Amino acid sequence: MAPDPLPPRLPVTDRTRHRRLREQGSLDRAELEAILDAGFVCHLGVVIDGRPLVVPTVYGRDERHLFLHGSVAGRSLAGGTPVCVTVTHVDGLVLARSVFEHGVNYRSAMIHGTARKVTDPEEKLTGLRLLTEHSAPGQWSYARRPNRRELAATTLLALSLEEASVKIRTGAPDDGDGPDAELGLWAGVLPLTAAWGAPMADPALPPNTPVPGHIARRAGTRHG
Ligand SMILES: Cc1cc2nc3c(=O)[nH]c(=O)nc-3n(C[C@H](O)[C@H](O)[C@H](O)COP(=O)(O)OP(=O)(O)OC[C@H]3O[C@@H](n4cnc5c(N)ncnc54)[C@H](O)[C@@H]3O)c2cc1C
Repeated sequence: MAPDPLPPRLPVTDRTRHRRLREQGSLDRAELEAILDAGFVCHLGVVIDGRPLVVPTVYGRDERHLFLHGSVAGRSLAGGTPVCVTVTHVDGLVLARSVFEHGVNYRSAMIHGTARKVTDPEEKLTGLRLLTEHSAPGQWSYARRPNRRELAATTLLALSLEEASVKIRTGAPDDGDGPDAELGLWAGVLPLTAAWGAPMADPALPPNTPVPGHIARRAGTRHG
């Protein structure tokens, strides 16, 4: 039987309670999912030998888990210890009249939990498929899939999406109605967008190897 879906409202726990800039917080799980789906790189924070380590890495997800992968030699992927994962999208620079009020328009998510090492072969393949398809939809069917040796060399972690938080900032600077509005300075937002470029063929390819449609179609589309 399929497990129940996670509640539509994000839980407020000791770890997820927003303490500062609370007005930017959201408890809407749909916003969390939208942030996760808009990116494919996260930062995995973990304490190893008493020291913090924050590792940029790619991810995928299903309705209940974030999947992270890497070499079995990766110390950050040991699993079984508390981790904190963040996903961040920068939408623009908020340029205020005062330096103090400068900021960033963003969407960000933080997931807290203890990641589990996936050992079941079927679950591992599913997780790796989700992870591959998250950043490169269509590649799981197109490229050669991992063989037994490659699977053995890969760690896959599953982190529950249960305990997560979201913060979003949009809009103009906050000092438009304060005393600094009298300064006569320009203020506003400088938007930032990322887009996929045209595919660049590997020089080692035989000439005229066609670019698959699922890759070609992404050129010029917006990322994030
Ligand atoms: C691109 C970017 C730039 C930023 N720049 C600054 C900056 O220069 N200075 C600054 O003070 N803040 C900045 N922030 C906001 C910052 O991420 C924190 O939200 C804020 O500083 C509060 O931090 P805190 O340690 O007091 O968190 P707390 O409010 O104590 O955090 C409690 C809990 O709230 C949740 N939470 C906190 N922050 C976030 C978040 N960003 N996304 C999702 N969940 C969150 C987490 O679950 C966390 O455990 C920036 C955010 C982004 C995305």
